[in-house]
Amino acid sequence: MTEPTSVSTGSSSVLAALVGALRGGSVEVLDLTAPLSSSTPILQLPEEYGQTVPFQLEEISRYDAKGPAWYWNNFRTGEHTGTHFDAPNHWITGRDLADVASVPVRQLIAPAVVLDFTEEVAKDPDFLVEVEHIQAWESRYGALPEGGWLLLRTGWGSRAGDQEAYLNADERGPHTPGLSADCARWVAEESPVIGLGVDTVGTDAGQAFAFEPQFPCHSYLMGSGKYGLTQLQRLAELPPTGAVLIASPLPIVSGSGSPARVLALVERTP
Ligand code: MN
Repeated sequence: MTEPTSVSTGSSSVLAALVGALRGGSVEVLDLTAPLSSSTPILQLPEEYGQTVPFQLEEISRYDAKGPAWYWNNFRTGEHTGTHFDAPNHWITGRDLADVASVPVRQLIAPAVVLDFTEEVAKDPDFLVEVEHIQAWESRYGALPEGGWLLLRTGWGSRAGDQEAYLNADERGPHTPGLSADCARWVAEESPVIGLGVDTVGTDAGQAFAFEPQFPCHSYLMGSGKYGLTQLQRLAELPPTGAVLIASPLPIVSGSGSPARVLALVERTP
């Protein structure tokens, strides 16, 4: 047996302080995860492409002849279902970069900032965030966090219970907000964040199939070894700065992403 390395305990311990704050309520835990069920909205691609399957439970036994004392299920779904994590190898630009099992766990606990575009999106579901919007936010709240998450709050999460309203598609395709191609490139290549989180079905805008490049958030972020988080809920309850995100995709070996439980730690003044 090897001796554990030095462990801090007592009043100077950061973790003891965290546990105390969690117990006392000065640090609140928010679940940003959408419930997983057969009605969880999923992405739909043009029909010539392969499609992801909705979340499906298949009962193995339920205290019956197949298993008298136990209940359990198999489940089937796409890696990119519900609240989920996009790994760099999800896109061709990141094909030689990390799979979801190789993402360093240290990056899965990180600060998050929330940029609120609910007013703009209420007027225009195809609203696109530009670099200037982010820079205006930075001049008020400070620089984007090094190694942290940029979260887009668009109000779209309120539609998450209804696949049709959530995808908001017509004959010209889906209409949901996102980043412009130039902004996606800037976030990927010039900003210090490790990823982009959204309250829509995917990190790219609904019309991004027609952007140059196509699906620029995926193309630039994955190509830069960065990550995506989608279908986040309760972003309205997060402060603009100061929250800590815990994103926990399953370590699917060679996988391109995974449904993830995403929690936020938020400091509340009593
Ligand atoms: Mn995805």
